Amino acid sequence: MQKNLFKNILIFAAALLVISSLFSLYDVQNEKAKTIGVPVLVQQINNAEIAKIEITDSSLDVILKNDEKETIAKEAGDTFSELVKNYQIDPAKLAGVEVVVKEQSGFKFWVNVLVPIVLPLLLIIGFIWFMTRQVQGANMQAMNFGRSRARETKKGQVGNEIVTFKDVAGVKEAKEELQEIVEFLKHPKKFLKLGAKIPRGVLLLGAPGTGKTLLARAVAGEAGVQFFSISGSEFVEMFVGVGASRVRDLFARAKKHTPCILFIDEIDAVGRQRGAGLGGSHDEREQTLNQILVEMDGFDPTTNLIVLAATNRPDVLDPALLRPGRFDRRVFLDLPDINDREAILKVHARKKPLASDANLRHVAERTPGFSGADLANVLNEAAILTARRDKNKINETEILESIEKVLLGPERQSFLLSQDEKKVTAYHEAGHALVAHLMPHADPVHKISIVSRGRAAGYTLNLPEEDRRLHRKSEFLDDLAVLLAGYVTEKEIFSEVTTGAGDDLRKATELSRDLITRYGMSDKLSPRIYGGAEEMIFLGRDIREQRNYSERVAEQIDAEIDRLVTDAAARAKEVVTENKERLENIVKVLLEKETIEKDEFVQVVGVPKAVR
Ligand code: ADP
Ligand code: MG
Ligand code: ZN
Repeated sequence: MQKNLFKNILIFAAALLVISSLFSLYDVQNEKAKTIGVPVLVQQINNAEIAKIEITDSSLDVILKNDEKETIAKEAGDTFSELVKNYQIDPAKLAGVEVVVKEQSGFKFWVNVLVPIVLPLLLIIGFIWFMTRQVQGANMQAMNFGRSRARETKKGQVGNEIVTFKDVAGVKEAKEELQEIVEFLKHPKKFLKLGAKIPRGVLLLGAPGTGKTLLARAVAGEAGVQFFSISGSEFVEMFVGVGASRVRDLFARAKKHTPCILFIDEIDAVGRQRGAGLGGSHDEREQTLNQILVEMDGFDPTTNLIVLAATNRPDVLDPALLRPGRFDRRVFLDLPDINDREAILKVHARKKPLASDANLRHVAERTPGFSGADLANVLNEAAILTARRDKNKINETEILESIEKVLLGPERQSFLLSQDEKKVTAYHEAGHALVAHLMPHADPVHKISIVSRGRAAGYTLNLPEEDRRLHRKSEFLDDLAVLLAGYVTEKEIFSEVTTGAGDDLRKATELSRDLITRYGMSDKLSPRIYGGAEEMIFLGRDIREQRNYSERVAEQIDAEIDRLVTDAAARAKEVVTENKERLENIVKVLLEKETIEKDEFVQVVGVPKAVR
């Protein structure tokens, strides 16, 4: 817009220039006549030098007998006869002079009188018009801000496909809960007849990528109703009040299309706890949230409009949202377990040609902790990899490679390590792997590699054998030892450490802090939470509440973290020094082959995995 304004100003400047030069041309034509004063004229009349006087409105144009031209400016009101009287010109002398009262030619009159007044006026008006048009343009945009950008799709379509429950694998309980909503939308009378109230708001809760958005669409698809969706972050705009008006607009539109689903994705962006936070966006959020609450309270309970909302941060939601009559139903979506993972993989493999060797169960086994979105991504990466290798069926190798890619980022074969770096990395990773193998509570090693991936120079993949919901302290302690094993090994072998261990140290510190402050696993500190979950919500809450413990406790926490990591490092060191020969064997194979898979690794170490 700035650029446009500048351009317009330039255009006007150019126009002004052209017009003023036209004027000066016009002046040049007039210059042929000499301008004189009245006394000169009087004298010339008396000397009988004048042949002709033309009287116009604004001037006397004099033609001398010798054909010279002169002009005298005159006021439009003055008449020639007054002039004659005032200057006491002898009428007899005038007899020889031809006096013509010239009518102003229409054109000249307009040019002379109107142009100097009207043209600048026109220019100014034009300029103002342009300016206002631009401002209006901005205004129009501002007006549109108020309209919700809700996307409206028929029956929960994605692209031109209708999503239904069969596209959502796993999440059995969630689907059962939502089946009820589908029934409400399909046969509202059945429920209303019995005096049942149609639920108004359903909140979908779950980690990112667990299929909340997908499931919301599927509800609309199952019920065959219109689907309006907007994301919470779209409410939060520059202008205060825009969010609220969008909410109003969205609800108004949805109410015209009942039965329908109105889906507010990522509602935590607006639905955070009120009364805290800093900065202007906070006011906006509050207004938007209030408007959502007003709308949800405001519509007729028999309206067949159901509001679905999704969030992965239920802990930060304003309690007002969760009150009865608003989002009083909550549906939890868990990360998929092994069976669900297999089912999700099957859903996404439907349109991909899998080779007969590709066993999705194996893939499911290898992907604990993956979300539905991660799994979809794995299969997609596998398809891409297959295409790049010019094969027409996806083999299991491609899928397994894609797991690592999703987990750790792409392999960077171009990012070559020097001979020295390779050696350090090999020892570092061998240390991790050895300690993981020999610590009974640590997860078994699936793969070691010194091919750099993402930001890491090398990596050791140790994954749990099965899905676990609960974790013991002994597992955490062994995990800590594994995390520090790379650092310890580098120190042991090269007597100094590289930056490669930095990330491990950060993870180890965070893990030990969690042990103490969140899980009550410290022997020294009382079993309570220090800091609380809100600590992580930046600006979301009153800052004073972030630290709910004293300075003295803070010192104790620090001391405990120190103790945990020092102990873990000592345990790792013990394993490394006692198994130096095994370590050297792993390093030798690693330097030679760059990656070692699970079975070969066990062979190289020479003892089976330590188990509890
Ligand atoms: P969320 O909204 O919970 O972050 P999405 O619904 O956007 O997650 O999921 C992203 C993608 O992951 C979906 O489009 C789908 O391809 C895949 N996905 C996630 N969960 C499932 C599931 N249970 N079944 C099938 N696909 C899933
Ligand atoms: Mg989502
Ligand atoms: Zn490491």
